[in-house]
Amino acid sequence: MNHFIYKKDDLYCEDVSVASIADQVGTPFYLYSYATINRHFSVFEDAFKDLAHLTCFSVKSNPNLAVLRVLASQGGGADIVSAGELFRALKAGIPPDKIVFSGVGKTSDEMGRALESDILMFNVESDQELRVLDKTAQDIGRKARIAIRINPDVAPKTHPYIVTGLGENKFGIPVHDSLATYTLAKALKNIRVKGISCHIGSQLTEIDPFLDALNKLKALLRELQGMGLDIDFLNIGGGLGITYDDERPPHPGEYARALKETMGDSNITLILEPGRVIIGNAGILVTKVLYTKSTTHKRFVIVDAGMNDLIRPALYDSFHAVQPVRVTDSQMVEADLVGPVCETADFFAMNRKMPSFKPGDLVAIMSAGAYGFSMASNYNSRPRPTEVMVRGKRFSIVRARETYDDLISGEIIPEFIGEDKD
Ligand SMILES: *Cc1c(COP(=O)(O)O)cnc(C)c1O
Repeated sequence: MNHFIYKKDDLYCEDVSVASIADQVGTPFYLYSYATINRHFSVFEDAFKDLAHLTCFSVKSNPNLAVLRVLASQGGGADIVSAGELFRALKAGIPPDKIVFSGVGKTSDEMGRALESDILMFNVESDQELRVLDKTAQDIGRKARIAIRINPDVAPKTHPYIVTGLGENKFGIPVHDSLATYTLAKALKNIRVKGISCHIGSQLTEIDPFLDALNKLKALLRELQGMGLDIDFLNIGGGLGITYDDERPPHPGEYARALKETMGDSNITLILEPGRVIIGNAGILVTKVLYTKSTTHKRFVIVDAGMNDLIRPALYDSFHAVQPVRVTDSQMVEADLVGPVCETADFFAMNRKMPSFKPGDLVAIMSAGAYGFSMASNYNSRPRPTEVMVRGKRFSIVRARETYDDLISGEIIPEFIGEDKD
């Protein structure tokens, strides 16, 4: 459920017409609904309420400070994958003891910053990383709480680029190797073993892979307890899918029920790292039609947003619904919705039935809240779009549109260019 709905012929975000925002902030822009974010988070929390758990929002799915603040104010934690995300999470008011740090390539500098902030734990992904973490903790006089990220070798049915829990993926440590890593962790003086973690992939639309993974974590848990390790946390990662088109992902309630059953009675706290399911359908990308053109092959609708603003169709061949901001009685026609970037992959929809848009029409690209702005770039020297949040009748810019000066900030033309040749 989300709060992007038509009132008569006009698309609204909560109580504000999308066209009126476009009038004031220009296009393209990302638009987030406060009520939708809140609702998605509270539905998720509610589903797990009778199980000891901690929900750590995956910051990489949408790192905007205002978005993080909404979740912080609801008691949410953060799953971070860089020191930059740590910086954001803390700025947004997420308490360090609700922050977990994932990722295969943490630098010692990043570890140091996270240790100094006293985050809850690191999800460690290799023996080498574990040794660097131990050394870093020693250098700054702290202990590092950790989980080892397991690669459970389960096969979620999703796009190959967002599968992370298969044996062939770079993530985590195979279960059979992890005992050695835990033994190492136990021996290292500045490491405190706290948990087991995994994250098997993204946009999963079935529950079974999660349960397979959780069962593997539980089996490992028993072995680790046998080794005398105190495990307080099992982290099942994120990955619950959403409806972009006609997918039927499990409701968070169903997901929670299944996980609870599999957990059984235990003193273990479950950590969850949802991203997409919270924010994906709480945001849209609004763009304006610049031109249309028809060739003998196709009709193209060229809009002012491009793959630099929303790369998911180009990167994952993913589907985003395309909706008019104002419904007219124009007939539906098959067209490609494309951007201005000089790449054939710069499209939002291909061979799709859509209203016969005209120049100046506003178009809503739906389900763009997750991995939208967070993956945006300046490719083709295009300033990144502004981000806006609506709450009820009010709206606010939550990130200013980039300027041309922003584009070149930090660039330097060295003096040796233009010197006479010697
Ligand atoms: C990306 C990621 C998530 C979030 O995935 P979603 O599919 O957005 O829920 C959670 N945990 C880790 C370690 C990740 O890399």
